Amino acid sequence: MNNPFLELGIRHDIVNAITELGFENPTPIQNQSIPVLLTGSNDFVGLAQTGTGKTAAFGLPLLELLDFEENYPQALILCPTRELCLQITNDLKNYSKNMQNVNVVAVYGGASISDQLRQIKRGVQIVVATPGRMLDIINRKAIDFSQVQFVVLDEADEMLNMGFQEDIDSILSTTPEDKKTWLFSATMPSEVRRISKKYMTDPFELTMGEKNTGNANIEHEYYIVRARDKYAAFKRIVDFNPEIFGIVFCRTKIETQEIAESLVKDGYNADSLHGDLSQQQRDRVMKRYRERGLQLLIATDVAARGIDVNDVTHVINYSLPDEIENYTHRSGRTARAGKTGVSIAIVNSKEIGKIRQIERVIGKKFIKAEIPTGFDVCEKQLFGLIHKVHNVEVNEQQIEQYLPRIMDEFADLSKEDIIKRFASIEFNSFLEYYKNAPDLNVTEDTRFTRDGAQGERPSRSGSNADFTRLFINLGSVDGFTRGDLLGYFCNQTNIVGRTIGKIDIKGVYSFLEVANGDVDQAFNAFKSAQYKGREVRIEVSAEGDRDRGGDRGGFGGGGYKKREGGSGYGGGGNRREGGNSNRGSERKEGGGFRDFSGKRREDRGERRKRY
Ligand code: AMP
Repeated sequence: MNNPFLELGIRHDIVNAITELGFENPTPIQNQSIPVLLTGSNDFVGLAQTGTGKTAAFGLPLLELLDFEENYPQALILCPTRELCLQITNDLKNYSKNMQNVNVVAVYGGASISDQLRQIKRGVQIVVATPGRMLDIINRKAIDFSQVQFVVLDEADEMLNMGFQEDIDSILSTTPEDKKTWLFSATMPSEVRRISKKYMTDPFELTMGEKNTGNANIEHEYYIVRARDKYAAFKRIVDFNPEIFGIVFCRTKIETQEIAESLVKDGYNADSLHGDLSQQQRDRVMKRYRERGLQLLIATDVAARGIDVNDVTHVINYSLPDEIENYTHRSGRTARAGKTGVSIAIVNSKEIGKIRQIERVIGKKFIKAEIPTGFDVCEKQLFGLIHKVHNVEVNEQQIEQYLPRIMDEFADLSKEDIIKRFASIEFNSFLEYYKNAPDLNVTEDTRFTRDGAQGERPSRSGSNADFTRLFINLGSVDGFTRGDLLGYFCNQTNIVGRTIGKIDIKGVYSFLEVANGDVDQAFNAFKSAQYKGREVRIEVSAEGDRDRGGDRGGFGGGGYKKREGGSGYGGGGNRREGGNSNRGSERKEGGGFRDFSGKRREDRGERRKRY
């Protein structure tokens, strides 16, 4: 039987290699672009999400078209991040593993340039590069692009978002006029449209799905909660999805770190990925995540760019992105390679408008979902456990020697008692934690949760609602008192002191509240500010929401802890477990929880149907 890749015109030794990678049938973008690109005579614009098989869509034709008897740069692939750069390089090496003399080099920042220069000197046909480092190497006159035939701009929208426009211009000016340019982008903002006009003549355009829309396999859901309940709601969603393998997006580095720390304290397997980490630290986090050593990766938009991990089940927008376009990039981290995935937004009632805006951009409606009740979570976890016990593989040989003693221990218990006890070992902690858990959902058009608690605070003049809480990386270790910081800040920004709200001095950082209307002025003033030779950084603090909420359960280490060691039930195999039921239910949520007698089922009606 003919392999469909052979029919598309890909040679046997490449087809054999990709078959080993599990490529049986071309993805839609491969089906449509490979025949066009194999002609080698078109410029090309492909609008496609990440995870659709883009790399092979351009990579396989490149391997067919280049002359590997020659050892000079013939193709240049530019992409936005180091992760993507390594991924593409690795993919190309895998596709070409049965071919002779194929040399691919990865050129990216944050790694030794001399190694890269050495590899280039040895001879290379395909260069995969991030723009900054590529330009550096060009400026050192260490590479000659005068015979490049193909340039691929991968994730063009991301490269422009990251401000690489000028670098790309400079790099492309060193390549021949008559080269062919292939551009791939998940979205088509006007900037991308402009560069496609600038660099291409009459390109062949291919749109997979609708322009600017997300992947059809992603279900988009939003949950409305009070700002102060956000973390508790987030944990419920995670507990309700014990098999979750997710990426959680935050807006700032601080928020990223705080959420990750709180989750770790609460016993979840989570870590953060953000720009303040060294490359080595980031690599370590990514390695753990890829290998499923982490269940939740908490990331900023920039840090998560180019992450290519298959089987991500959920993307959670803990905070919605400032730039609506970023929502598409975030959600594209799930549902890769034809799989399905869920993208969740946890919002407060003031943010509904943003959800509607996103719907317009992705061309798809969000489903309004309900935060599971404590009962829902407990039930899900319990049956997850039961299912696992039922399906566990028993090592008959190993266990046999212990059986007589085990039977002896249980001699006085009935089968029912034994089952109840096994289930309770893990389950008690969930019961305890979710005892009295309130309904956290807020209806769309009121400021009240459905169990009557007050929702969003009304905005009063002079209340915190008019202020933005800013983080600044100066604090008591720099010798600042509240008065000093006020003076320094006002001097720097020209903002009048009496408009500044609360100031909290911490060790190496502090927080201060600034009138919303002054935030831009503050950011402008600190653009390149230094204090005693050190860069001064301000950010909008993620704590803003939380502080205003008053009694917010669970954040910052309260809440239920899972056990250390061992593997959890209900799919939480990645979480920390062990010890016994010391899962402090410091967190008391009011009302709502009932026992498992079944009495409650009928009055949960509608809400349950989502699950
Ligand atoms: P990409 O969009 O190139 O990042 O690809 C996303 C994922 O899909 C990668 O893990 C690829 O290995 C995988 N993939 C690409 N093409 C195919 C295919 N034809 N069949 C199966 N998996 C594929």
